[in-house]
Parts: sequence; structure tokens; C-alpha cells
Amino acid sequence: MLSFLRKLNHFFAPQRLELPAQLITEESVSEEIFNRYSYIIGSRIQYFNELSAELKQKFINRVHNYIRQKQFHYIGLEPKEEIPILTASSAVQVTFGLKSYMMQHFKNIYILADAYRMDNDEELYIGHVAPEGIYLSWKHFLFGYSDNTDNINVAVHEMSHALLFNNYFAKYGVDKNFRANYEKFSTTTGPILADVITRRKSYLRNYALTNIHEFWAVSVEAFFENPATLKENMPQLYEALCSVLNQDPETTHKILKPEL
Ligand SMILES: [Zn+2]
Repeated sequence: MLSFLRKLNHFFAPQRLELPAQLITEESVSEEIFNRYSYIIGSRIQYFNELSAELKQKFINRVHNYIRQKQFHYIGLEPKEEIPILTASSAVQVTFGLKSYMMQHFKNIYILADAYRMDNDEELYIGHVAPEGIYLSWKHFLFGYSDNTDNINVAVHEMSHALLFNNYFAKYGVDKNFRANYEKFSTTTGPILADVITRRKSYLRNYALTNIHEFWAVSVEAFFENPATLKENMPQLYEALCSVLNQDPETTHKILKPEL
């Protein structure tokens, strides 16, 4: 996997552009927007409620910027103000410790009312990431944030895939620290993954054993849903996630190195 990523890195490097300045600004929202967003996010996302006043401001500024850069498409449900706000919040939650959080590769986010089928596939999906966009079932999005004990959160899961995809395939908006730390993460977690595959048993749900990409996304779900329990059961994995995402969700200050 590591050599594969290195090859991609080499292959895509000449095409990468510097991030345009307007995409990294974190201009402050008005008090009215702050209050409206706070109410909507705070009523669903516990992570946000744990933040200090200063970090809540940073979180909402990022949510507002993220929404402005995306096109939301609604399939089988009416647009509602809370949908882009909460969807952007899940992206901001996963990337809160990173400097580059916009996932510029993805311009389109598709929100579907419920689980869906793709092409001729009989299987039902609740979310996926494709080169043309991020797809989420709204019913399952809400379910993911309604229970903080089951380690299942489809939005956090898909945003983790989107973040990884963005950092290896996007032309700009790449977070250099994330990339460097993700390569270390793959090295650290390789033996953990090999071990759980051999034993077919892990604190993480079985879907994590599908491949390294699912191991990453399922680990990030557990990291945000139940940080203390993940830390207790898989301390090495927990540390590796703290380092790659530059945050520790068990703490109220969340971000580990503010300068990143
Ligand atoms: Zn997945």
C-alpha cells in the first residue's frame, strides 16, 4: 500500500497546484449566522457541544466556507437548511486538526432520502465516495449522529474516504502534514490490520477488515464515536489516528498542534 501511494504521489506531483489563497481563508461569519448554525449543529452533533467558545467560532467559520464551495443535490427529499450545515459539519469534524479542510476535489454532494442502489448492483448503500462526488443517505446520516455508542456514523465514514481521496488525487487542497502522517499511519497500522485479519476478531466492526481503505474509515468512525473505548482497546491505533488527524477527540481542546 505504501509503495502504491508513493507511486501515486510521484505520478500526481507534477500536476499539483498551490492552494488558491481564497480557499484557505477562515473569515468570520456574522453573529446571526453563528447563532443559527450553533443551534442546528448543537442539536445533533455532540462533538461541537464539547468545544470552547473560540473553537465553536472556528468550527462554524469552516462550515460556512465549506458550504459555499459545494453544490448540494437532493434526491428524493426537499432541500432543508440543516442538510448542508450538518453535512459540512461532519467534514469539518474529521478535518478539524488540519489546515486544508475544504476537500477541493469534491464540488458536488448528493443527498439521498434513504438507502439506495447503484447501477445494476443489488446491494443497498447508505453512502459512498466517487470521483464525481460524495453521496449520503440522509436517513442514515441522522441515525449516525443519534447514537454515540455504536461506532457507526456514515457521514464520518464517507468524509474519511473523501479526505484520503482528496489528498492523493486532487490537484490542489492537499494537506502536506496529513499526507506525511497518513503514510506513517499505514506503516503503523499495517501490522494491526494483518493481526485482526488473521484472528478475524477485533474491537472494530468486521467491515474494517475489507481492505486498508475501509480499515481507515471504520477506525475514524470509532475514533469520533467512542474515543475512550477505542483508546482502551486499541491504544496504538488511537495514537496513530491522533497523529494523522492532528486531534484528540477525547479532549475538549481537540486540536493537538494548533500551528498545523
Ligand atoms: Zn467505506
